[in-house]
Amino acid sequence: MMKVRVGFGYDVHQLVPDRDLWLGGVRIDHTVGLKGHSDADVLIHAICDALLGAANLRDIGYHFPDTAGEYKDIDSKILLRDTMRLLREAGYELGNIDATIAAERPKINPHIPSMKQTLAAVMAVDENDISIKATTSERLGFVGREEGMAAYATVLITAR
Ligand SMILES: [Zn+2]
Repeated sequence: MMKVRVGFGYDVHQLVPDRDLWLGGVRIDHTVGLKGHSDADVLIHAICDALLGAANLRDIGYHFPDTAGEYKDIDSKILLRDTMRLLREAGYELGNIDATIAAERPKINPHIPSMKQTLAAVMAVDENDISIKATTSERLGFVGREEGMAAYATVLITAR
């Protein structure tokens, strides 16, 4: 039987003025953006953590510390590409990803096809192996008050 492993990732970033909004490797026009040491792409970070967790390779902060100057304002697609390299070096390949973005505004759904296309290219996987969903928080909590966004990702990986 083929060995399969599951991983889970979760991330949150604060919304602030004067920042670009990056989600799933795509820049989205909005009045506020996510704050962070990197470009704060909350979806990519959740996916990286899920991939690393599935392979038992610690987490994103362990491999890409936010105290390191080299990661300041870094494009999170680079972190995702490097995470896939770590995963493949450990002998794994992606099975599939199922991810959810929790954001009150803007509307995420129109951007999902380009996110899937972008992430599939960065990860060198089939677009069909990446599922991205979006939900609001029904105006409740920090997501509902538009103080931040959260992302959740589950991944399955297979041993090569
Ligand atoms: Zn993050």
